[in-house]
Amino acid sequence: TEETLVLVKPDGVARGLTGAILARIEAKGYALVDIRLVEPDRETLAQHYAEHEGKPFYEPLLEFMLSGPSVAIRLAGNRVIEGFRSLAGTTDPTTAAPGTIRGDFGRDWGLKVQQNLVHGSDSVESAERELAIWFA
Ligand code: ATP
Repeated sequence: TEETLVLVKPDGVARGLTGAILARIEAKGYALVDIRLVEPDRETLAQHYAEHEGKPFYEPLLEFMLSGPSVAIRLAGNRVIEGFRSLAGTTDPTTAAPGTIRGDFGRDWGLKVQQNLVHGSDSVESAERELAIWFA
């Protein structure tokens, strides 16, 4: 069975939405294998977001991710990578479809980074790489 890394990002934790997000994941039927509150350092985030280094939103993204705790989740189920990304909705919360986590709970707050509540791995390779970073 497949596994993915889900993060409830600092905006989701700070707004008290962890439970609501977990409820959607559980209602969809995926299995929580491991879950922890994390306060990643800059080095961990640089590893996680290596593909975005040099982009205009990279520094704001790291600052945002350093602004408070996140919840890291190891999630399992058939096609869970695709399934969670569907639950999450598209990257930009302003236009993410209603019914998705980002579409229902997210919006543009006028910042340089999209505060979009959650992260989900986008491939089997990314999931393996990211799970090794967050659940070392
Ligand atoms: P995630 O990987 O977080 O599930 P994603 O694959 O849709 O979402 P990426 O393209 O990997 O997003 O970007 C990582 C994160 O960087 C986004 O979730 C968002 O917080 C931020 N981000 C991405 N693109 C932009 C942008 N153009 N402007 C501001 N922030 C952005």
